Amino acid sequence: MTYSIPFNKPPYTGNEEQYLLNAVRSEKISGDGFYGRKCQAWFEKFLGCPKALLTPSCTHALEMAAFLIGIQPGDEVIMPSYTFVSTANAFVLRGAKIVFVDIRPDTMNIDESLVEQAITSKTRAIVPVHYAGVGCDMDAIMDIADRYGLFVVEDAAQAMMSRYKNRHLGTIGHIGAYSFHETKNYTSGGEGGLLIINDKQFSERAEIIREKGTNRSQFFRGMVDKYSWVDIGSSYLPSELQAAYLWGQLEKAEEINTSRLQIWQRYYEAFNYLEDRKLLALPNIPQGCVHNAHMFYLKTKDLSERNALIEHLKKDKIMAVFHYIPLHSAAAGKKFSRFNGVDKYTTLESERLLRLPMYFGMTEGEVGRVITSVNAFYEI
Ligand SMILES: *Cc1c(COP(=O)(O)O)cnc(C)c1O
Repeated sequence: MTYSIPFNKPPYTGNEEQYLLNAVRSEKISGDGFYGRKCQAWFEKFLGCPKALLTPSCTHALEMAAFLIGIQPGDEVIMPSYTFVSTANAFVLRGAKIVFVDIRPDTMNIDESLVEQAITSKTRAIVPVHYAGVGCDMDAIMDIADRYGLFVVEDAAQAMMSRYKNRHLGTIGHIGAYSFHETKNYTSGGEGGLLIINDKQFSERAEIIREKGTNRSQFFRGMVDKYSWVDIGSSYLPSELQAAYLWGQLEKAEEINTSRLQIWQRYYEAFNYLEDRKLLALPNIPQGCVHNAHMFYLKTKDLSERNALIEHLKKDKIMAVFHYIPLHSAAAGKKFSRFNGVDKYTTLESERLLRLPMYFGMTEGEVGRVITSVNAFYEI
């Protein structure tokens, strides 16, 4: 099956090629070179955080977060089950037990009102996931974390450019993580991520863990005269080629965001009528949240209607996808987690959700064809 409208195209602005070539010709293509430092400085200014470190993926940034907050075997970490595997795996790798709580049907984000009752004496952290780049209720989550002395690690993989009460998502918890995978709004050449340090106590150790457990970053800044093994660590640096690609996108960050929001808005307005007639449900953006149009999803009546709509779109050569088999129902989930409370919405809502094509550079004609096809399915 070849689709004429794919689900995703990696964002590409045109300048990436030149920056990649510059990096190659500079003969310095390992991590934290000219473009790597440029990207990190850009993020520290843009986000207003004490430290931003590029990583090879968001998965790696989350693993670093688990190291930094000192997760030990037996510790519990609270998160939604409706998320990507890395949200959980990063903590499972350190020996944590994952405690899932249900989501809110309006945003598909963790239900903040269910977090407190999932806390035990073993709980160490809460990991909110900002699904579709729409913020979780961070005031409520930070309040619970403060009262119980817990860390908050924001999985903001999908949320670059999004805000909650005028603060960037990823900068509210102690640590945040972005993804630059090719399916996200910005990519560093297919794979990549960012570790966002908001609590200064983690800045120095984050650099050490990322540099194989050495103080090489301090050495490069001239702070120590030789570098050596000082802590546990791994290799969490992306190459200069990834950073060069990303720089082409950071320069156009606003342009990419504006263009995505226009596409999202067009879908939203077109399908309002179907929602009014209760034929489907559309995403909700809560008060105080500014989103980044990471995805456009709609929710059908049930699983079988979703499958029928996918088939219908496929006949029109349009690719639409769903995702996240809830983690608690997956094989590994059964081993490493428990679901606290009742799964009222996680499974039910995940089975209704369908993501429509959405990418930077998607033409008006393409958006129009998707809308026409969905309308035809509902016979209007
Ligand atoms: C994409 C994604 C990740 C993983 O990002 P990678 O950069 O591919 O490691 C983690 N969490 C969520 C919510 C994601 O959407």
